[in-house]
Amino acid sequence: MQNRVGIGSDLHRLADGDGLWLGGVLVACEFSSVAHSDGDALLHALTDALLGAIGAGDIGELFPDTLVENKGRASANFVREAVRIATLRGYRPGNIDAIIHLQRPKLSPYKDAIRRKIAEFCGIAVDCVNVKAKTGEELGPVGESKAVAAEVVVLLLPVENGDVECAR
Ligand code: MG
Repeated sequence: MQNRVGIGSDLHRLADGDGLWLGGVLVACEFSSVAHSDGDALLHALTDALLGAIGAGDIGELFPDTLVENKGRASANFVREAVRIATLRGYRPGNIDAIIHLQRPKLSPYKDAIRRKIAEFCGIAVDCVNVKAKTGEELGPVGESKAVAAEVVVLLLPVENGDVECAR
């Protein structure tokens, strides 16, 4: 078995609210994400990256927003399920690199907590997860605080031939 890579991307509209879920962490701000689930764009992109790496489709196929049981659902469940499916197919996450696009608030106080949450959900060491944050330079939907977006790349390693350094 060979290593596999996956890419995921997501965007959610922002509305007036009392906090924004990103990477399983509630970011204190005057926005919330408009969504059927908890609207965690970063975890949705991560789920898609994991599913993509093993050729298992996408988050919309696995967790349709037409199903009532997915309403308000914590997106950590989506990530854990994607990791479980990858494990069944003989793969585990090696490392994860992520970008969050959000004009405000600044995410630097949250990045370490987000890394730890993602590492926990994926069962890997914190130093195998990297999170970067970018503003929209006040341009476009992100820059005008109308949207939050995220991009994630994940490397999956065969379980029996893993990189010991990134194994927990
Ligand atoms: Mg989404």
